[in-house]
Amino acid sequence: MYMYDYDVIVVGAGPGGSAAAEKCARFGLETLLLEKEKLPRDKACGGMFCPTIRYVVGIYGTDVEDIVERRTKGCRVYFEGELMMDVKYPSFMFSRKKFDYLITKKAVESGAKLIDNCMVSDVCADSRKVKVVCDKGTFVSKVVIGADGVNSVVARKTGLNSGWSGKDSALAIESEIKMSNKEIEKRFGNCAVGYLYRDFVGYEWVIPKDGRINVGLGTKVSRSGKLRERFDEMILRLGLRAGDVKAHMIPMKMLESTHNHKKRVLLCGDAGGFVYPFVGAGIEPAIVSGRAAADVCYDAVRYDDFSSWRFEKYEFYCKDLVHDIKKSGMQLKVFEFAMKHHLLKLFFVKRFLNLIDETEKFM
Ligand SMILES: Cc1cc2nc3c(=O)[nH]c(=O)nc-3n(C[C@H](O)[C@H](O)[C@H](O)COP(=O)(O)OP(=O)(O)OC[C@H]3O[C@@H](n4cnc5c(N)ncnc54)[C@H](O)[C@@H]3O)c2cc1C
Repeated sequence: MYMYDYDVIVVGAGPGGSAAAEKCARFGLETLLLEKEKLPRDKACGGMFCPTIRYVVGIYGTDVEDIVERRTKGCRVYFEGELMMDVKYPSFMFSRKKFDYLITKKAVESGAKLIDNCMVSDVCADSRKVKVVCDKGTFVSKVVIGADGVNSVVARKTGLNSGWSGKDSALAIESEIKMSNKEIEKRFGNCAVGYLYRDFVGYEWVIPKDGRINVGLGTKVSRSGKLRERFDEMILRLGLRAGDVKAHMIPMKMLESTHNHKKRVLLCGDAGGFVYPFVGAGIEPAIVSGRAAADVCYDAVRYDDFSSWRFEKYEFYCKDLVHDIKKSGMQLKVFEFAMKHHLLKLFFVKRFLNLIDETEKFM
């Protein structure tokens, strides 16, 4: 019988990893959560949640509501300065530092052991165990969950994904800029704003928060050559002065299940490509896939079954999420086609975006 340090090791304490660790620990699994940053850490992100916030509140309770910085009722999209869409689309704005740390604390309260400031450098899975090498030593577990983001070490070291191609990933740049709430209301109203331009197949955004706005833009990595210059132009155009500027990649692939699991290894969140590509939103998919990964781990440990079949169940647990991600991927393809062929106005037939249906459900 092999000696294991833990049932499960989760690499990365973003929303995906913390959600996975929280559920594993609550199931009674011996769980270790490893994070390379000192926590609480920030993350380049708009920090915007759409109506799916209800799902997150349903799991983690009203503590989540307590850290909402701003609730907005709408979303406006401009094309070449002309208003194209003004929909009622309830959204919730967070500081990622607070949001992610809240879920990490839930994982610890449930019994997971957390080691932060601890970089994982190698992961080796064989038929009997997983070995995880990090700054604090080497740990052996029955299963590993890779929740270490878009440049996942777990994905690379276990051969699941050697990296995203320029076509399958986006680069986004953002900055948080101080602004009084009065000024925010005056300039942007209480809504998120998107700006589209003929010469840029991507988005620019302003997301209002409490006493600050998140300003950013993103496009596929393959087209991101002059992104920083474009960001500076955007800041000038809006008459703003950027503070700390951060850039980060977002996976944008139409998901393939072969990329996110194998025997004893599961990838969730950005590491597994669980992001809605059309809008580049990955917080909720990270939580959904993290919790699904925990379900698979629990079954594997309690039935002492680490066969491929057991890990293929991950596809079943993520079925609805993958369906929605594929739908979002199709929307992105149509959007890119419309941009390329100057058909963008047609694209804004509201029904097509499904935003009206969503809004009716949640208002
Ligand atoms: C500019 C920008 C704006 C965005 N805006 C939104 C938005 O408004 N709404 C939305 O839903 N999504 C948004 N996203 C996407 C969203 O940020 C991600 O999809 C989400 O953070 C994925 O969560 P995760 O837990 O999978 O990964 P992450 O949040 O990236 O967490 C991964 C964690 O793993 C840790 N880690 C990495 N490597 C190692 C290692 N070797 N050892 C140990 N730990 C490691 C990292 O430090 C990190 O804490 C945005 C992304 C960008 C770049």
